Amino acid sequence: MKIYLSGKLVNKEQAKISVFDHGFLYGDGAFEGIRSYNRLIFRLADHVDRLYETAHTMMLKIPLTKDQMVKAIITTLRANNLKDAYIRVIVTRGEGDLGLDPRKCKGDGNVIIITDKITLYSDELYRNGMEIITVPTVRNLPEALNPQLKSLNYLNNILAKIEANNSGYAEAIMLDAQGYVAECTGDNIFIVKNGRLLTPWQGRLKGITRQVVLDLAAKNKISAKECSLTRHEIFNAEECFLTGTAAEIIPVVKVDGRAIGNSRPGKVTLKLTGLFKVITRENGVKY
Ligand SMILES: *Cc1c(COP(=O)(O)O)cnc(C)c1O
Repeated sequence: MKIYLSGKLVNKEQAKISVFDHGFLYGDGAFEGIRSYNRLIFRLADHVDRLYETAHTMMLKIPLTKDQMVKAIITTLRANNLKDAYIRVIVTRGEGDLGLDPRKCKGDGNVIIITDKITLYSDELYRNGMEIITVPTVRNLPEALNPQLKSLNYLNNILAKIEANNSGYAEAIMLDAQGYVAECTGDNIFIVKNGRLLTPWQGRLKGITRQVVLDLAAKNKISAKECSLTRHEIFNAEECFLTGTAAEIIPVVKVDGRAIGNSRPGKVTLKLTGLFKVITRENGVKY
């Protein structure tokens, strides 16, 4: 496996960074998860834009232009000869001292690109749907650490994941500080109510897969709305599913012990999953 590490392609064993990198010491960095299907990188520009927006807010200067970043991603994919891949792009503040002051980080920081395969859940779960629970850890307040930032500081999500795992579940709903449904630990959430698609409008990361689903709905005459959702609305939905680049679209059939609809992946979910399969295989940046 070849890994892109700050301008060079190196073997996995040589892909090492300093223990003084503030990405490691403080989670001071940003990342993206991207997928390619059939040698087409799906929604690449959206992912690169989001990475640079996160970096901009963090005042973290990425030492590549967006075009250079795209080229580096393509170079890495080609070096690994992957037709279908999960691409992880990481940018860090770089090597500093043990204090957290980012001004002490010298140089350009690290840019890391890993291309690999990833399947988050078993086929069985994609076919039959998963059961999830709500956990006590609330999603970061936008005023504290805005969920729009896809930063290396992922502890909020990991704590929620641990709570889900402790109870025997693979994924968790996180609420915002007001008690509204925000998202899951690494995925956005949708429900279907009266045939209409609903998804939280705030408190969550603006997922690119989420936007793809909203666009697919618009094109296929499925009514959709971004709104505030409570757990009550999730429990009484006809369908529920999660979206994310890694997870793609996964049906949810039980939440906090309540059956969703008839406890089977629903019509709208299956329709969108089919449309998603087509759009991901036919669109993207070729390599
Ligand atoms: C990355 C991520 C998602 C999914 O976003 P996509 O752009 O669809 O991959 C959702 N929630 C969180 C917290 C994330 O980090």
